[in-house]
Amino acid sequence: CGIVGYIGTRQEAAPLLLEGLSRLEHRGYDSAGVAVVSPSGIKVAKRAGRVRDLQEALPKRFAGKVGIGHTRWATHGPATDANAHPHTDAKGDVAVVHNGIIDNAAALRAELAAAGVDLVSDTDTEVLAHLVSLADADTLEGKVAAALARVDGTYGLAVLHADFPDRIVVARNGSPLIIGVGDKEMHVASDLAALVRYTTRVAHLADGEIATVTATGFTTYSNRGADLIHSPRDAIHLD
Ligand code: GLU
Repeated sequence: CGIVGYIGTRQEAAPLLLEGLSRLEHRGYDSAGVAVVSPSGIKVAKRAGRVRDLQEALPKRFAGKVGIGHTRWATHGPATDANAHPHTDAKGDVAVVHNGIIDNAAALRAELAAAGVDLVSDTDTEVLAHLVSLADADTLEGKVAAALARVDGTYGLAVLHADFPDRIVVARNGSPLIIGVGDKEMHVASDLAALVRYTTRVAHLADGEIATVTATGFTTYSNRGADLIHSPRDAIHLD
């Protein structure tokens, strides 16, 4: 339902993510969660309920200047803590937030289960975390492209990976994804309402695009059958 992301050098991600999520509350949702890249790997906090409940339950040590967050409007599986986003792979190295519906999730879940993967939620989204983790590619962009080549459906998504701590990779197909350009920090959101407090320079991802967002900028690619082709895109000023 709602996606936010932050990557910078000056500020902790978690307070910004929670603030961004609370600006999306008007859209309605049943669960909320955040993930950050901490020095000891990816940390996730998520639960059914309001952003306020998540904020109160957030561990004291939740440091990291790179993070993603989500408010969920359940389509696959009830509103439970386990079904809340972000979803992770078995090792906890990958974290994914997703808006939309993966149409072939049942087949992919069965395939992953047959390969010995332990699925811990009822969601369609969880397959994305496992597919990214298992993908045979050297870069995070390549892993995400390979995962998306297996997927039918709609998505706006944001991905963290412990082995690639300097970036958030985002993708869009039928569900909005906006990149906000700040001063040595970058934002990601599914809705302008979560961004305008921080920046008025934004770039809208197009359907079929993947982007790498680092603390200093972003690069967009068109994703053609797992081949990533650079698709340069300017950020526009809203005012
Ligand atoms: N289909 C996903 C789920 O049920 C995402 C729903 C959403 O857009 O919030 O978890």
